[in-house]
Amino acid sequence: MGILEQMSLKGKAIFVTGGARGIGKSVAEAFCQAGADVAIVDLDLETAKETAEQLRRDTGSDTRAYGADVTDPEQVNAMIEAFLKDYGKLDAAFCNAGICLNVPAEEMTFAQWKKVLDVNLTGVFLTAQAAGKVMLKQGYGSIINTASMSAHIVNVPQPQCAYNASKAGVIQLTKSLAIEWAKRGVRVNSISPGYIGTDLTLSSPDLKPLIAQWNAMAPMGRLGKPSELQGICVYLAGDASSFTTGADFVIDGAFTCF
Ligand code: NAD
Repeated sequence: MGILEQMSLKGKAIFVTGGARGIGKSVAEAFCQAGADVAIVDLDLETAKETAEQLRRDTGSDTRAYGADVTDPEQVNAMIEAFLKDYGKLDAAFCNAGICLNVPAEEMTFAQWKKVLDVNLTGVFLTAQAAGKVMLKQGYGSIINTASMSAHIVNVPQPQCAYNASKAGVIQLTKSLAIEWAKRGVRVNSISPGYIGTDLTLSSPDLKPLIAQWNAMAPMGRLGKPSELQGICVYLAGDASSFTTGADFVIDGAFTCF
């Protein structure tokens, strides 16, 4: 198989959590452009529907929207059932939904801590587990989890201990699943983006004022764009990455190099 064929996602069925906007939407668009049919899974069903409609119009892929809260096992399982009814199989899953709270550790409430861990770590576990069950039966599949450079370094100056801890957990969860499923055709990898310009950063009243400071620290002097994560995710979703599992890909413009 030539490299272009290996990189093609033609005929593949993929779901993307947190796919309504931001990184999830951009990667979903790339999956569609590479030939896949893509389900947009999000808490925000209205925006997910708009995104699915836009991608269908722009790419001709069979896109659909499903509302699900990734922290709720029943909603995740219902989503997978609906997905299988609609698409018949699951080739890849991008477990990407996440949130960030910036609160000093000594002031963080239990509810705030739990919310971040629930979405970012338990949510990835529940969606990867549900996808894994289907893929293990099929004997193939690729799971991509969104971690962060915050799994590797502590961001400054904003306090975000729950976020950092949750993302470090995503990497170790990814490696654990990769080992458990390696001989059964299911690959599991993570991406660790640096600061990316999305609503999470650009529209956050806590984070937006810090962008100039981050850029001053960044070797490339700028935020990343969601589209700059597309290539790695297309690679990981398809056959080109058949020997890649248990890996974490840091895409941060060298932010964590020093
Ligand atoms: P975003 O806020 O723009 O989009 C996140 C999407 O996830 C939204 O559509 C939201 O509705 C959805 N979502 C939130 N909670 C959910 C839940 N419980 N169930 C289902 N969907 C839910 O954020 P983004 O910047 O696109 O971030 C996507 C992922 O990338 C997150 O895991 C984030 O932690 C990670 N990340 C972001 C950056 C960055 O700088 N933007 C950097 C590193 C990692």
